[in-house]
Amino acid sequence: MKVDFGYKTYNNYGAYLKNKYEGKRVFKIIADGGFTCPNRDGSKGFGGCSYCNVDSFTPEVSRKTPSVREQIEKGIERAVKGYKADKFIIYFQPNTNTYAPAHYLKMMYDEALSVCPDDVVGLSVGTRPDCIDAEKVALLESYAGRGLDVDLEMGMESIYNETLQRINRGCTHEELERALCLVENSPLDVCVHTVFGFPWESREMLLRYADEINRFSHIKFVKLHHLYIVEGSIMGVQYKRNPFKLFSLDEYTDFLAEFIPLLRPDIIIQRLFGISDYDLLIAPNWGLKKSGIQSYIDKELERREVVQGSRFAG
Ligand code: SF4
Repeated sequence: MKVDFGYKTYNNYGAYLKNKYEGKRVFKIIADGGFTCPNRDGSKGFGGCSYCNVDSFTPEVSRKTPSVREQIEKGIERAVKGYKADKFIIYFQPNTNTYAPAHYLKMMYDEALSVCPDDVVGLSVGTRPDCIDAEKVALLESYAGRGLDVDLEMGMESIYNETLQRINRGCTHEELERALCLVENSPLDVCVHTVFGFPWESREMLLRYADEINRFSHIKFVKLHHLYIVEGSIMGVQYKRNPFKLFSLDEYTDFLAEFIPLLRPDIIIQRLFGISDYDLLIAPNWGLKKSGIQSYIDKELERREVVQGSRFAG
């Protein structure tokens, strides 16, 4: 399968957006719908996944704004003023954004999509595989039916149940497989999110994630993250008591250089690494801003002539 990656050597989200929206500048606007998480409120577990502090996912400005409408209005204003954005994708990111009855979700998504409707081109919803069912899929599909691009983002995190148990995920890999089956013939764009670098997972184990992702032909997007440790998480406490090995930027880039060729070339990589506010980050501190990390990794992948899919057996 031959895919044109634009100016990078992997199938990157920037090129995808540019191509799809004919050169318009499309920005994600983060919305916090005030959802909780079954892994925090006791229905699945308490304390959350051990690496998680929900605040670390969200820029500080989005955390302090009260209503969804106001968050989106302000987010759009910032994107227009700061980046000359033309079009927007509303991104329900923090917590579990399908963790409510479908009628409540509809109210929340409708409110978000009523802001600036002429310029909103998509809805992106981050959730857990065990919080998706046929009714919620149908609701999300109804937005796709209106011409929006709807991206359902689910945490895969690890492909190993032993890891999912150790990180208190409260969800198995089989539950992800079930959720992926639910959206197999759906117009939704499916995205999975992974975390690389749990200290007990070897390089060989990490490289096997590629096969598992490739297996699902309807996975359109991936978000690849390295493990980072933040304040307010269980792992934060564990790490401070007993620090463990985390990827350095060099090591992580080296890993990506081996991983990306194994990944199906049609899968669009939305992210190559994770990022947290520096005031919450415990480790690893790579000493660079987001753009610096991105450009370091991109340059290194290019220097090594890494091409996505070049080792994908098909
Ligand atoms: S990572 Fe997601 S599922 Fe896990 S505790 Fe945090 S919000 Fe909940």
